[in-house]
Amino acid sequence: MPQQVDYLIIGQGLAGSLLSWELLQHGCSIHLIDNQQENASQIAAGLINPVTGMRLVKNNHIDTLLPCAKKTYQTLSQFFQTDFYIEKSMLRIIRNEKENLSYQKRCHDPSYLDYLEPHLVQAPRSIHAPLGLIQQKQTGYLLTHKLLSHLKNYFQALQCYQACQFDYQNLQLNDTITWQGISAQKIIFCEGYQAINNPWFSYLPFQLAKGEILTMRTEQRLIPQMLNYGHWFIPLDAHQFRTGASFEHNHLDTKTTLKAQAQILATLSQTYPALSSASVEKQQANIRPTTLDKAPFIGLHPKHQNLAIFNGFGAKGSLQIPYYSQHFLQHLLNQTPLEERVNCLRYDQ
Ligand SMILES: Cc1cc2nc3c(=O)[nH]c(=O)nc-3n(C[C@H](O)[C@H](O)[C@H](O)COP(=O)(O)OP(=O)(O)OC[C@H]3O[C@@H](n4cnc5c(N)ncnc54)[C@H](O)[C@@H]3O)c2cc1C
Repeated sequence: MPQQVDYLIIGQGLAGSLLSWELLQHGCSIHLIDNQQENASQIAAGLINPVTGMRLVKNNHIDTLLPCAKKTYQTLSQFFQTDFYIEKSMLRIIRNEKENLSYQKRCHDPSYLDYLEPHLVQAPRSIHAPLGLIQQKQTGYLLTHKLLSHLKNYFQALQCYQACQFDYQNLQLNDTITWQGISAQKIIFCEGYQAINNPWFSYLPFQLAKGEILTMRTEQRLIPQMLNYGHWFIPLDAHQFRTGASFEHNHLDTKTTLKAQAQILATLSQTYPALSSASVEKQQANIRPTTLDKAPFIGLHPKHQNLAIFNGFGAKGSLQIPYYSQHFLQHLLNQTPLEERVNCLRYDQ
């Protein structure tokens, strides 16, 4: 194992994985450490949905983030010779008059034309949508679990991956940093929600959100589109699907609950009644690294220039992480300024 590297990376979720991938592609040496706990990235639905919320608002940065995400996942697919990003259309159920009015407004806004069909679509017979259905465009989902296991094998083959818990007290901070005999120019923390225990970065205002998600199976033949009805439905094949996810700010643990399962199943059977008899194959829970102002935390520590963070991607990791891996890389290698809205220095220590 190399004793000296450019970057020590903590955490092999989607953030640590894609940042490590970019650094390696640019000739940097890394040592990546992960404690192998099931993480948010592995259980995430991986959805990319440009227009969200009750008011059907387009993500402000979508025109930058989406092409970069698609290109990155395509590059990784070519490299590993398998698909990771599945483009799939999404039908959004109009749930009330307010949503309908927002939709009518968006239909007259040319900047939404790439993301929303300006005419309502006919509901499939199995779907309950009395106020109508919107056809969303440029939606899809990332097979994050599969991508992370391919990347882990790749890092292992390059001998730059170590499965263990990183302990903060053994980090020696000088001009270079040293941890268990490995020295590096910088350490980059990509710890997801576990950053709240990080002695250098826990001052950042995370606003964590637990999420639970179900994988289910039915005898019924499923519709081919994804559905969005507050919760979402993703058909994986003709009979298996994922649905969720719950959003919970108070009980921040990774245990699954009957309460979340009941909520997810109730909205599902209201929208897609034929799935009332579908069976739950798997229920998973984890914690999203969401932040107070909904923007990521990226950059160097205000006092220790060899400590860095790449975190806070909230509920939108699949969309944001590819672009910000490249953005941060440019900052690390060429001192290109970080966007102010994502720079962790926007908050005082
Ligand atoms: C139920 C659910 C559904 C979601 N659905 C979507 C979705 O549809 N679309 C979307 O874009 N996003 C979704 N998300 C959010 C998405 O999961 C996150 O944005 C993204 O995964 C965050 O990645 P990360 O690498 O920052 O964190 P994580 O995936 O949590 O990875 C952090 C890693 O660091 C490791 N680690 C932490 N501390 C240490 C340490 N001290 N030593 C060693 N290793 C350590 C952890 O074990 C973990 O492997 C969902 C999340 C949940 C919970």
